[in-house]
Amino acid sequence: MRDTARPMFVLVLVSFLALPWVAGTPVERRWYKGNTHTHTLWSDGDALPEVAAEWYKSHGYHFLVLSDHNVVQQGEAWRKIGTARGELAPDRLERFVERFGPGAVTLREQGGVREVRLRTLAELRAAFEEKGKFIFIAGEEITDTFGKLPIHHNSMNHTELIRPTGGTSVQDILERTVRAVEEVARKTGKPVLVHLNHPNFGWAVTAEDIARVKGERFFEVYKGHRGVRNYGDAERPGTEAIWDYAWPSWGATSSTPWPPTTRTTTTGRRRPGPPRRAAAGSGCARRR
Ligand SMILES: [Zn+2]
Repeated sequence: MRDTARPMFVLVLVSFLALPWVAGTPVERRWYKGNTHTHTLWSDGDALPEVAAEWYKSHGYHFLVLSDHNVVQQGEAWRKIGTARGELAPDRLERFVERFGPGAVTLREQGGVREVRLRTLAELRAAFEEKGKFIFIAGEEITDTFGKLPIHHNSMNHTELIRPTGGTSVQDILERTVRAVEEVARKTGKPVLVHLNHPNFGWAVTAEDIARVKGERFFEVYKGHRGVRNYGDAERPGTEAIWDYAWPSWGATSSTPWPPTTRTTTTGRRRPGPPRRAAAGSGCARRR
């Protein structure tokens, strides 16, 4: 099962990444609004990255991670103009040219096939970043599988591609992925955030899996894709119940309600209770 084909509107608030515009100065501790889970035509999204960037920037977001599957936005990449999956639909191209102008798009034709070039992250930064207002954080969705179970993590604040590690079990993949990210952080000397995505996508990752992996400190509590089962089902817990089970003694942050509140769950492990509806909104749970 593949992940979604369009930008995901997942709101995540993080306070611990020192954003570049404050680099080198005492870091002001405050909340920034951003999205750490977005897909574009760099993988299986259906829009050019400029479209996602403009949407988030114009809606008051401070940062955006283009978390395409197992790819970072570097080098030359082209996509066909067409209506198949992974192609840029002609009407979307038309709207893009109307919005950004013909000079904003690079097209070529080879053997009767029209293609569009994807802008790299460096080009996108030059076009959209604004000091104190909006930045990109480089990242990717590390997209792994165990059998048919999709195991996805988003990692950010690194430019080197982190490839899926594979593993002998779901827990092993969780463990190896976290260690791979820690290794990149160690090598680069920069903080790298990794969060497990949509544990109920494909019913791939259980609360027990998360609880047993040291360093699996964050996960996506809400995602706006119908296949991710934020609320569980009749037998299986939703993501908020997973959160309570996996990290019973940990505080966690949530973007709902605004302003952000700190939520401390009770201590002591327990089995996931009956599925409960998570509060509307979204967030990235965090172990303290
Ligand atoms: Zn995913």
